[in-house]
Amino acid sequence: MPSFYAARMRLTAWYIIISALISIVFSIAIYDVVTRELRQSFIQAEQRLRGGPIVRERAQMFLQEEYIIAKNAVIVRLIILNTVIIASSGFAGYFLASKVLEPIEDMVEEQKRFIGDASHELRTPLTALRSEIEVSLRDKSFSSKAKNLLRSNLEEVQNMQNLVFSLLALSRYTDRADVAVERVNLASIAAEVIKQHGDQAKKRKVKIEQKLEEVQVDANAASIRQLFSTLIDNAIKYNKEGGTVTVQTKKKRRHAYIKIADTGMGIPSEDIPHIFNRFYRVDASRSKNNVEGYGLGLSIAHSIVELHSGEIWVSSKLSSGTSFHIHLPY
Ligand code: ADP
Repeated sequence: MPSFYAARMRLTAWYIIISALISIVFSIAIYDVVTRELRQSFIQAEQRLRGGPIVRERAQMFLQEEYIIAKNAVIVRLIILNTVIIASSGFAGYFLASKVLEPIEDMVEEQKRFIGDASHELRTPLTALRSEIEVSLRDKSFSSKAKNLLRSNLEEVQNMQNLVFSLLALSRYTDRADVAVERVNLASIAAEVIKQHGDQAKKRKVKIEQKLEEVQVDANAASIRQLFSTLIDNAIKYNKEGGTVTVQTKKKRRHAYIKIADTGMGIPSEDIPHIFNRFYRVDASRSKNNVEGYGLGLSIAHSIVELHSGEIWVSSKLSSGTSFHIHLPY
């Protein structure tokens, strides 16, 4: 899990910094005491010198050199000692960080499994419920009042199915080791997803422009499909009637670049830091009443990008439009 790896590295770095600071402070103190003692002994040796001025001068020079050699030897030993301490604190720190984070990692893993299992268990009864309602809606013996009630139930069931699907996606796209990775062409996935959203765009009179350059990345195809689908769906949903959605894929020097831009209502700047949070929806009055959703789409998109060690960010201008930008490593 990338976030835990980053946390482990950060914690290790802190352990190294702390032990390096302690070790350096002690080394300075040791250096100070040892060189003072050395100086003292050399001064005493100088005072004990006998013989004529030339002999004493030579002996003094010799003692000076010896003093410098002894001082340098102390410095070299302290540097070696510090290097050994810092390197071993690095290894010990990494081990300790892993031990500290292990229970938290297990807990998150357990939570993820629970969400995955619960969503999975909910899928079967919801599918059964949906087909029963659909069958009942075709039954001529039901009154129109009963059918209206069933239609509203069907809508709720469909919403719940979407929610279950989103929760499953959230629990699935957290660990790269759990998904199949292959060489995928972003342009062809984008074109395929755009086609799937054709009817939705037509209904809202939204035009989808394609600026698709062939880009190959190592990725999980299903999740990349979901990423395009979520962002294109939002770009249509939150667009104005007759607006435009531009989908771009491009090769950059170090990574693949994806941009999904719309000419819609935009996102207020105060909401931008929160839109990737789970269940976050911008301004209930404009979102909840007009457009369906649970506020999970962008957090799924964020998890997918993180799963591929990429980056996602947004730029937006109110009443003018929103662009989602993504970098994915090759
Ligand atoms: P949902 O669309 O289900 O509400 P998302 O996580 O996909 O959930 O989006 C979170 C919120 O961000 C949405 O409620 C919407 O207000 C805002 N948002 C997302 N995409 C756009 C967009 N392209 N233009 C304007 N607002 C957007």
